[in-house]
Amino acid sequence: MENQRRDFIKKSGIALASFINPFDVFSTNKEMKENHFETIIIGGSFAGLSAAMSLGRSLRKVLIIDNQQPCNAQTPHSHNFLTQDGKPPLEILAEARKQLEAYPTVKFINDTAISASKSEDLFEIKLQKNGEAIAPKLVLAWGLKDDTSKIEGLEKCWGVSVIHCPYCHGYEVKNQPTAIISNGNEAFEYIKMINHWTKNLTLLTNGSSNLTEEQTHKIKSKGIQIIEKPITKINHQSGKVTSIDLKDAEDFPISVIYHRASFTQKSEIAAQLGCEIDEMGLIKVNDFQQTNVKGVFAAGDNASPLRQVANAVAKGSLAGVMANRELIEESF
Ligand SMILES: Cc1cc2nc3c(=O)[nH]c(=O)nc-3n(C[C@H](O)[C@H](O)[C@H](O)COP(=O)(O)OP(=O)(O)OC[C@H]3O[C@@H](n4cnc5c(N)ncnc54)[C@H](O)[C@@H]3O)c2cc1C
Repeated sequence: MENQRRDFIKKSGIALASFINPFDVFSTNKEMKENHFETIIIGGSFAGLSAAMSLGRSLRKVLIIDNQQPCNAQTPHSHNFLTQDGKPPLEILAEARKQLEAYPTVKFINDTAISASKSEDLFEIKLQKNGEAIAPKLVLAWGLKDDTSKIEGLEKCWGVSVIHCPYCHGYEVKNQPTAIISNGNEAFEYIKMINHWTKNLTLLTNGSSNLTEEQTHKIKSKGIQIIEKPITKINHQSGKVTSIDLKDAEDFPISVIYHRASFTQKSEIAAQLGCEIDEMGLIKVNDFQQTNVKGVFAAGDNASPLRQVANAVAKGSLAGVMANRELIEESF
């Protein structure tokens, strides 16, 4: 039976979607009656839902596994994505999910993918609450986990008044007194960029500066102060920064902070499958979102240094197209 199923999935293509009544297949919070899909997408936010749109419109039987914790959930307004500028990110995602409900072969489950294995041409994904799901193609779209635990107060301000990207939020805080928490080469590049949005800048290196003499000179020549005192706390009111506590120094009053938190992949499944990770900690993909493991695609923040909704949507869409393309090539 198992072999028959495998053979069927391999050869089925479009036929699989019509063979199993999609409405009878699967319902959230109930045990799966049938757990075979043509593609499983892990992560149902901007990248994952976009992949699902391409696949759903390609008549593919798709499972989206998502535990509903997108990285920008705390941000009151998302910017720089056409037609959705200024909307709360969770509202954009809710609308996207609603639009996907029009495609009966696309199934969504609120669960966490905890591990993966591969046998012949099929991937088996173990879910925290709902057993296993099986498919010949995977799209990894689980995003990144930002570590906001290193400075007290940072977590509550993340995406509210501590921002990482000027393209997302720089316009709204332009020309305001702004602190950048960063050090070394990253700090130099960051200062150079943010100086375009505001000239009222202070660099906090949170400990001894790792800037070169030349970098320090250049930064100071722009009238930018460098503070090396360790940061002990970010003070805020409901996520809105009021000041930064410094060790052995006066508080530093400020209302906007730029900071790039260190991050990790949100799931170990890429490593379990043997997907290569680059020196930045991102999943390595080619121009078609293919990882080094055949049948496994990755898209969105987990595979791109450009952390923006527009980029995640574009790369997710491409991953969905390429997964469908591989299924066509294998079944025609
Ligand atoms: C604070 C902040 C503010 C931002 N503001 C903007 C902005 O204004 N404009 C803009 O263009 N970009 C903004 N960005 C960037 C943007 O949010 C990301 O580029 C985008 O969310 C990436 O989409 P994604 O689908 O790759 O990942 P995410 O949106 O992070 O989604 C990943 C999804 O996968 C799920 N998931 C993770 N692991 C598992 C698992 N094991 N099993 C099941 N599900 C899992 C998560 O719950 C989540 O729903 C912001 C980012 C941050 C951090």
